[in-house]
Amino acid sequence: MYRQITDNVRYLKGVGPSRAKILEKLGVKTIEDLLYYFPRRYEDRTQLTEIAKLQVGKFQTVKGRVLCSGQRLSFHKKSLKIFETAVEDKTGKFRCVWFNQPYLRNYLKDDKEAVLYGKVEFYDKHLQMQNPEFEIIDDAEEKDSLNYGRITPIYSLTEKLSQRVLRRIIKTCLDEYLPVLSDIVPHDVRMHHNLLNIAGTMLNMHFPQDALRQEAAYKRIVFEECFLMQLMFGLKRLKMDRISGIAHKFEEGLLKSFQESLPFELTAAQKRVMEEIRSDMTRSQPMHRLLQGDVGSGKTVVALYACLLAASSSHQAAFMVPTEILAEQHYANIRNLLLKFRQINAALLTSSLTKKEKEKIYAGIRGGKAHIVIGTHALIQAGLDFKSLGLVVIDEQHKFGVHQRLDILTKGLNPDCLIMTATPIPRTLAMTVYSDLDISTLDELPKGRLPVKTYLAGEEKRRWVYDFIRENLKKGRQCYIVYPIIDDSEKLDLKAAATMYEDLRKNVFSDFKVALVHGRLKQDERVAIMRAFQKGKINILVSTVVIEVGVDVANASVMVIEHAERFGLAQLHQLRGRIGRGSYESHCILVAEHSTEEADSRLQAILEENDGFKIAEKDLEIRGPGEFFGVRQHGLPELRINPIGNIGAINTAREEARGVLEKDPGLKARQNSGLAKTLKKRFPDYEKFAAS
Ligand code: ADP
Ligand code: MG
Repeated sequence: MYRQITDNVRYLKGVGPSRAKILEKLGVKTIEDLLYYFPRRYEDRTQLTEIAKLQVGKFQTVKGRVLCSGQRLSFHKKSLKIFETAVEDKTGKFRCVWFNQPYLRNYLKDDKEAVLYGKVEFYDKHLQMQNPEFEIIDDAEEKDSLNYGRITPIYSLTEKLSQRVLRRIIKTCLDEYLPVLSDIVPHDVRMHHNLLNIAGTMLNMHFPQDALRQEAAYKRIVFEECFLMQLMFGLKRLKMDRISGIAHKFEEGLLKSFQESLPFELTAAQKRVMEEIRSDMTRSQPMHRLLQGDVGSGKTVVALYACLLAASSSHQAAFMVPTEILAEQHYANIRNLLLKFRQINAALLTSSLTKKEKEKIYAGIRGGKAHIVIGTHALIQAGLDFKSLGLVVIDEQHKFGVHQRLDILTKGLNPDCLIMTATPIPRTLAMTVYSDLDISTLDELPKGRLPVKTYLAGEEKRRWVYDFIRENLKKGRQCYIVYPIIDDSEKLDLKAAATMYEDLRKNVFSDFKVALVHGRLKQDERVAIMRAFQKGKINILVSTVVIEVGVDVANASVMVIEHAERFGLAQLHQLRGRIGRGSYESHCILVAEHSTEEADSRLQAILEENDGFKIAEKDLEIRGPGEFFGVRQHGLPELRINPIGNIGAINTAREEARGVLEKDPGLKARQNSGLAKTLKKRFPDYEKFAAS
């Protein structure tokens, strides 16, 4: 039979229907899935550590004989079942313990030989490992080259699947399919960068001949991944460059009168980015630009400039923001600015308008009387038509889904697009993650901003925290108190906004005006409260994270974040960004309990750093890239490798991808057919971009 990597694994020798079901739980359906199901780590079983040479604190692998195995209950916690054995080799003995796994007695019987892997510790006068991974070795198997006497792959497993069975299945798969694998990385590219071919790669990813070849195989996989991704980005770019959009006209006087109308001096970074945007918008290819800048770096004014440019060139601009409050705030800002530009009209479109109001605004937008339209996702409603939409601005892009961002673009004919984000990532990374976008960065805060002072306080400091708030309120400042949840029913031992609001209002700050906002309030109630807070009619705003995004109240200079250990790092930074926006010294107090190590490192990072870029790097470190990028959110497929630490590979891959596309922009050549097929499989929107 003709073999293909799309074959179902169930037909592989040793698999069959029931094991195929088990493999499916690991995401493995086809031969290709199985080939790319890489080990989670390797154990060098050619060089086992002798028990006498175990080192406390290290993860080590030992082979030895099981002795005195048995189960007992914990002395300290009677509900805890402990399974315990001694393991002996000719140099010594040590102890292994497992918790609540009584079935282990069926495997780890006295006199069995086992390979064990775990962290060596010193406990109660003995060396021991807690919950080590193990495999029983029987005599016959010592000769089996898959499991023993080699660098051995350790896979992530699922129930009813053992390392040995999976190794055997993968070995069979390699034997049968390696000869038919075709290499999607072109031969000359492989030669150029000294990359293993696909057969050598697969062999050494699963059953490395030695550590060096395992590394080489990994290097090739990283390259392949990056190469595919960069090809996809390249195709998108090519497609975008073929599209023609609107070349906006630009009057020299515009920038000058815009600057004059501002109550402040633009930062150098703002000026630079405005110039980048002007240059994009006056070209006929549509702009696809990401503007990243820390909270408070002044992105809005840059976006308004872009809107003004579109409007003064007789097109319309849509400015989409995630919340009504933000929409109102931007609208008020733009109205102020437009006092100087009488011929330009702005409109505000939110979902809380009455039908009549809405229709009137719709008519203005359709007829072209409204030049700049600011709104929430109400902007993507069917039935709303623009006369000539020339620019789309999306603020706080992470709050929108991919389709919402694309939907708004279809309201015009290839309009320019400016996407803004306050979750900055280091530039080199941004270029790889968003490489289908051009990137502008506001890397400078407006002059005169005082950094927010951040403190950590435990429950014992509660009195001090309240006194501190009171002191600041007396000086005329306002304060936010943020809770992770709304009411007590949600989680048992967390303080909740609604409950604490009652307490604060009645018992603690009865002499001040305290208000509560959260996501379950009706839209108009929420907006009314935010408005009152903005106007200074409320002293303390108790809230959940609904205030996280964009709100600008310069007089609010104190923020208390309760259960700070519960919040993500980016979230803490965003929250804290709500204060320190005026000229007052601002203070952020994190009230937190010790919970996990990860939570502690988040708190440490936010205490030490004010710079959003540095915080983003820390976040990346703590969480790992998968979650950080929300890869899916960007419409990218899940990566098989971690892009962090592989910037070099990403850059070479980009060069090579460019080279391939220069010669064969549609990937139609025969030698690229494998590539085209793979891209099509991995990227759902491939067809859309590849079609020329
Ligand atoms: P973000 O980048 O977080 O969206 P905003 O655009 O909301 O920041 O700006 C934060 C505040 O800084 C606003 O009150 C804005 O008017 C003000 N601002 C913007 N640019 C400057 C500047 N160059 N000098 C002084 N204040 C500025
Ligand atoms: Mg903003």
